[in-house]
Amino acid sequence: MDLFKTGRTCARGGHLRLKHVLGALTVPLAACASWSAPEPEGLVNFAQVSSQARAVHERLLVMDTHLDTPANLSKPDFSLVGVQSVGDGGTQVDLPRMRAGGLDGGFWVIYTEQGPLTEEGYQAARDHALIRAGEIREAVAKHHQSFELAFRAEDAGPISASGKRVVYQSIENAYPLGLDISALETFYRFGVRMVGPVHFANNQFADSATDPEGQIHGGLSPLGEQLVDEANRLGIVLDGSHAHDQAVYDMLARSKTPIILSHTGVKAIYDHPRNIDDVLLKAVADSGGVIQINAFSGYLEEIVQSPERLAALAELDRQYDLSRTDFSLDEIAIYTEARQKIDKQFPRNISSFDVFAEHLMHALDVVGPEHVGIGADWDGGGGVGGMEDIASLPRITELLLARGLSEVDIEQIWSGNMLRVLGAAEAGAQATIESLPTPR
Ligand SMILES: [Zn+2]
Repeated sequence: MDLFKTGRTCARGGHLRLKHVLGALTVPLAACASWSAPEPEGLVNFAQVSSQARAVHERLLVMDTHLDTPANLSKPDFSLVGVQSVGDGGTQVDLPRMRAGGLDGGFWVIYTEQGPLTEEGYQAARDHALIRAGEIREAVAKHHQSFELAFRAEDAGPISASGKRVVYQSIENAYPLGLDISALETFYRFGVRMVGPVHFANNQFADSATDPEGQIHGGLSPLGEQLVDEANRLGIVLDGSHAHDQAVYDMLARSKTPIILSHTGVKAIYDHPRNIDDVLLKAVADSGGVIQINAFSGYLEEIVQSPERLAALAELDRQYDLSRTDFSLDEIAIYTEARQKIDKQFPRNISSFDVFAEHLMHALDVVGPEHVGIGADWDGGGGVGGMEDIASLPRITELLLARGLSEVDIEQIWSGNMLRVLGAAEAGAQATIESLPTPR
């Protein structure tokens, strides 16, 4: 998640904070004019790649390590198994498009917006994250013929072979754990197997890559070091995306098992704090870890929005005080309609598949196919021109084939590396803790 949204679970008595519903609307709408909505069935040629690339893609276990789709689960107009499009509603992941794009699953994110570092803030965040974790389990239970929770690295293959989609779970922003490290075990029991300590702003665990105030801990805090130890004990993979570079170095030094960057780009292509330089990239690889390449336009290159779009958004913001917490559903519907109108009239400029490919190929050049994967930030702001949603994922396989990578290498990139890192976390775990039963 690299937008500033959360989900509907912040509703209080039928009212919402307006900014919680904005995220999906910031996904480009008219920007993808050449894109057409998928048909519910018969989608195998949707991405318009070569038959060879399609055949390879279909053979591989294809997973993404940062699916923000759980933020959509509680929205009344979203169905995990329904036919939707990025042009109508802004979502990017559902079962028909997973079939179309050959996406077998991945890590489904429990994202929590950063709030105040107070007892009240921690409590509200914990409640939010627990509700989101419950929503994931409910969705899998409701659609158990198509989805299955995964807990161990060895689970993904058999689940996929059975025709179901793989649902690993991750935490983006450990803020909801408050000051109580033992809360991580609660989420482990829900099935969480990856944790990113921090998001847009510094928190109790770590410095963020993007906090305007700069660093406050010099990397990980002492509590952040405890979080690393607890994740190691449980067998949870540590995720350095969003963390300040120094915090990532601290994670590398402290963790007994390899770390992941679940959705990150490279500074060599675009010098942005959310991206990493080649020195850190090599350090992650030397630890046995992996970078999963992001497709969030604002981190791929400098993106300038049109003056007309910025003016229209400013005028809309002027009409609505986004700090209000008492918006009615009717007000939100009116705002949403106005926002969608702006998106259609003045489309958000986004990056291109070619620039995404530059980040991917650079990482491969520096650390090789055993340390690179894909974490595009779907439903969290990811998506580029030519790859607006997951239905276009075969384009990545086609690109990698065209650049001379073998099918074995490409499978490493799509799932082998992340499963290796997860397996290493399991092997290093000092505890045997059963997860909650899989819902049926
Ligand atoms: Zn993110």
